[in-house]
Amino acid sequence: MRFSWRGLAREALRGHAGWTPHWRSPEQPQPGYDVVILGGGGHGLATAYYLASQHRPGRIAVLEKGWIGGGNTGRNTTIIRSNYLFPESAALYDHALQLWEGLSLALNYNVMFSPRGVMMLAHSQHDVQSGLRHVHANRLAGVDNEWLTPAEAKAFCPPLDTSAAIRYPVLGAALQRRGGVARHDAVAWGYARAASALGVDIIEGCEVTGIDRDPVSGAVTGVQTGKGPIRCRKLGVVAAGSTSLVMAMAGLRMPLESFPLQALVSEPVKPVFPCVVMSNTVHAYISQSDKGELVIGAGTDQYPSYSQAGGVQILGHTLEAICEMFPIFRRMRMLRAWGGIVDVTPDRSPILSRTPVPGLYVNCGWGTGGFKATPGSGHVFAATIARDEPHPIAAPFSLDRFAGGRLIDEAAAAAVAH
Ligand SMILES: Cc1cc2nc3c(=O)[nH]c(=O)nc-3n(C[C@H](O)[C@H](O)[C@H](O)COP(=O)(O)OP(=O)(O)OC[C@H]3O[C@@H](n4cnc5c(N)ncnc54)[C@H](O)[C@@H]3O)c2cc1C
Repeated sequence: MRFSWRGLAREALRGHAGWTPHWRSPEQPQPGYDVVILGGGGHGLATAYYLASQHRPGRIAVLEKGWIGGGNTGRNTTIIRSNYLFPESAALYDHALQLWEGLSLALNYNVMFSPRGVMMLAHSQHDVQSGLRHVHANRLAGVDNEWLTPAEAKAFCPPLDTSAAIRYPVLGAALQRRGGVARHDAVAWGYARAASALGVDIIEGCEVTGIDRDPVSGAVTGVQTGKGPIRCRKLGVVAAGSTSLVMAMAGLRMPLESFPLQALVSEPVKPVFPCVVMSNTVHAYISQSDKGELVIGAGTDQYPSYSQAGGVQILGHTLEAICEMFPIFRRMRMLRAWGGIVDVTPDRSPILSRTPVPGLYVNCGWGTGGFKATPGSGHVFAATIARDEPHPIAAPFSLDRFAGGRLIDEAAAAAVAH
């Protein structure tokens, strides 16, 4: 069913009784598929959609152990930007940003992409130098980014305290006007719906518990799941915080650590916050949802863990930072907090790669900042799987960079890279 003005009006008049499920979710998988995507988050669903729409490799299934979008895709603070420091990163994230700009039309599903501008604050001379370096590097790479004085930052975001007498004074800010936010659930649902319409089986409640390999060639031959064995020729693992556990099933050790990362929302208020503001120095990020809640992101826990909770002191620290930068919010009440498990590489850049196991591909390492990459990641990963060779934008992000030393060190470039 395509969405249209006429269809919306018809359903409004008949009590919305005619809507059908947005995607097919078969209870039982087929005995075999040409490509299986492990993980029904935004990246896995986008990969399935671009495989089906652009490469047609045969039968495709997405296997999700819980419900689609129930992982980090449904837990993140939805910041979208592409002003990363290194040309390889800027190319990948800007590829994604260009796809975001037309995504609702392409999927015929409103993902509520809102390019309201992302402002990154500088609180010290070091921040100013690093911010200016980003601005210059981005402009050389053809990515928009501009430097604001404290007065210009205040004009762009009136609730911001730019007085000099605070612990973290604002000395300037980098602004990417094309950056913004989108509705995270809608991204998962939109890709699921579009992929399903192209024949992709989306199987929820289907945990992969083992990876089968040919005893002679070592190639992937299928997966073991809670719903029985499934044969496949190619397997794309897109499991975010669980990637190390899944890849161990194929005997591969990944250069990843998994950490809890938390976010929280306030009670809803009238529109008061016009943009997205990030402070990497104090590890706090804020925007306002269309519902009116302030959406606030924190930094990762100090210790690796698979607990989807996170340390309570991290939330306290984040809220102190928010109140310092935005005194107007001091009396707001927080409604709820949650955590996700983020998969972090040594250089804080993702892995989009073939692996030493024939037929096994991996998309992971997005850490604290992969939501923004969802369309671009799915697009280049689908090409990598279909052609069995890295898409040119994905090539620098291969697994073997950790053996060869060609790191893309965004770790030093952005303390927390939302
Ligand atoms: C609190 C928080 C805030 C964040 N803020 C931002 C932000 O502002 N901007 C940004 O760009 N990014 C942000 N991120 C990061 C972003 O959410 C992730 O990088 C991105 O959503 C990863 O998407 P994904 O599809 O790879 O992973 P997920 O959405 O986690 O999907 C992976 C799926 O794999 C499934 N799975 C795992 N193991 C198995 C198995 N054995 N069998 C079957 N299925 C399995 C999981 O259930 C899960 O649904 C944030 C993350 C968190 C936690």
